[in-house]
Amino acid sequence: MIPNLSNHSISAARLQSRRFNPARRAGRFVKGMLASFALLATCAAHAAAPMALTNPPGFYRVMLGRFEVTALSDGTMPGFDVQKLLTNKSVEATGLALEREFLTGKVEGSSNAYLINTGSKLVLIDTGAAGLFGPTLGRLPENLRASGYRPEQVDAVIITHMHPDHVGGLMAAGRMAFPNATIHADRREAAFWLSQANLDAAPEANKDFFKGAMASVNPYVQAGKFKPFDGASELVPGIRVQPAPGHTAGHSFVVVESDAQKLVLWGDLIHAAAVQFPHPEVTIAFDGDPQAAATQRWKAFAEAAREGYLIGAAHISFPGLGRVRPDGAAYRWVPVQYGVLR
Ligand SMILES: [Zn+2]
Repeated sequence: MIPNLSNHSISAARLQSRRFNPARRAGRFVKGMLASFALLATCAAHAAAPMALTNPPGFYRVMLGRFEVTALSDGTMPGFDVQKLLTNKSVEATGLALEREFLTGKVEGSSNAYLINTGSKLVLIDTGAAGLFGPTLGRLPENLRASGYRPEQVDAVIITHMHPDHVGGLMAAGRMAFPNATIHADRREAAFWLSQANLDAAPEANKDFFKGAMASVNPYVQAGKFKPFDGASELVPGIRVQPAPGHTAGHSFVVVESDAQKLVLWGDLIHAAAVQFPHPEVTIAFDGDPQAAATQRWKAFAEAAREGYLIGAAHISFPGLGRVRPDGAAYRWVPVQYGVLR
């Protein structure tokens, strides 16, 4: 076929005129600019979304054999002044230990409790502070609910010791927060903190600790729901307490075992992980008997490192679950890996 040369040349001429038509080019430029503005406007709209400024609810769950373990956050203490509160320390060594973990003097201190579902019993270990320890704690009830449980379902509460950040949550708005639970704590702990004579004799600065324990535990005592234990005992099948005095006179560990797996809940064995793992001898102003607390810590770290069992600790960064490794003359903390339950 012979090409129609005339048509071809007309098309070429049209093409030429399109290519070099300045008005058309200007129109395209404006269209392009408008498209760019539209894109920018879309991006700007995304950037203007309000920030959420919250974290998801503070609970984290692992399985221990057949038991379900839920770490519950009661909140964090933003001004935890490690250099001021730690005792029996060298300021330089403490500073260095903090620096190694990118921390300065004021640490964000976690406060954790643990909920164990054995399949037949629901057991809470420590209850958070409610209103007894400042406005940043007291979140346990909302996190318990967010984790899928209601306070009325709790069968037993085990108190590691009666400091306000552990017992305060026993009460909620003047009522027993766990109305169907039996409350357990070491008899020596109860004798010390629930004693009017000890409250009267206490220095002014410590009186609130006694008052907090009394306000939190006495309603359960009066209702016949407080059952103290005497040293090592099994309170629920698979859950036993083990005396660990030092921080307080009746301070106890809670040992949870299922299908040959073991979790030891340390209560307040440790307050500043960054410092006390490398320096277990360092104590804290809240220790009732600092020397005994340090001895207890060395012993517990050695056993945990030797046996490799899971640890839960009230004041290690949430969820406070992990294991211990020997590290030179001392120890280091190995947090659990994040995992989704299947
Ligand atoms: Zn505590």
